[in-house]
Amino acid sequence: MRVLLAVVALLAAAGPPVHSGRNTLGRGGGALRGTTIAVDPGHNGANWAHPSQIDRLVDAGGFRKACDTTGTATPDGISEAWYVFDVAQRLARILRAEGARVVLTRTTNDGVGPCIDERAAIGNRAHADAAISIHGDGGPSSGRGFDVIYRPHDAAAHRLALAIRSAFRAGTGEPYATYVGRDGLDVRTDLGGLNLSTVPKVLIETLNMRNPADAKLVESARFRQREAAALARGLEAFLHARP
Ligand code: ZN
Repeated sequence: MRVLLAVVALLAAAGPPVHSGRNTLGRGGGALRGTTIAVDPGHNGANWAHPSQIDRLVDAGGFRKACDTTGTATPDGISEAWYVFDVAQRLARILRAEGARVVLTRTTNDGVGPCIDERAAIGNRAHADAAISIHGDGGPSSGRGFDVIYRPHDAAAHRLALAIRSAFRAGTGEPYATYVGRDGLDVRTDLGGLNLSTVPKVLIETLNMRNPADAKLVESARFRQREAAALARGLEAFLHARP
C-alpha cells in the first residue's frame, strides 16, 4: 500500500509530459552537473551602518573605488540589498537542484560587504564557469526596465550577457531599460566586480527600484521567483552553448 501510494505520488509529481528540447530546468534533470556558478547579490543589509568600512578604497581594476555602497530602495523602503539577496537565494536553489555547484558572495543580508574586489575574487577562486552580480537600479523614476552590463573586449562575458538578456526578457516580461544602455545591454569599464573577474561575469540591473511599476514587482514573491528562473535559464543556455 505504501509503495502504491509512493508511485501515485511520483506520477502526480511528474506532471505533464516533458517536451523535447534541451531545457530540463526545474525538472531535477541535473542539466548543470559539473558546473560551478558564482552568484553575487549586490550590497549587504548592514552596509549603511558601517560607512567607514564601506567607503574605504579598494582596487577596482587599475584604479581605486569604494569597497561597496549601500544600494538603493523602492519608494516604500524595500532595500536593494534585501531584494537582490532574495532573488539570489532563489536562483541558487534552482541551480543547485540542477546539479550546479553554487558559490554565493554573501549568505546573509545582515552583514557588511564583501568589497567589490573580494566579490570578484570569490568567483575567481571557485574557477566559476559563469558569474552573475544581481542588482536593482536606482534610476530616474520615469524610466523602467532591465539591463545587463559587461566589460568591453570580453567575448565570453558578451555571450553570457546575450544569454541572460534574452532569458530574462522572455522569462519575466520586463522591458529593456528605457533610460540606460541599449536594447537591454550596457558596456562599462568602471565596475571593479567585473574588471577583476577572471571568469565570464555580468551584472544585471534587474529593474529600476525608483520606478513605481518596477517597485511593485519587487514586492511580488512570484515575480522574484520568475526572475530567478529566468536567470537560471540564461546561465544554462550560456553554459550549454560554450565553444
Ligand atoms: Zn546595486
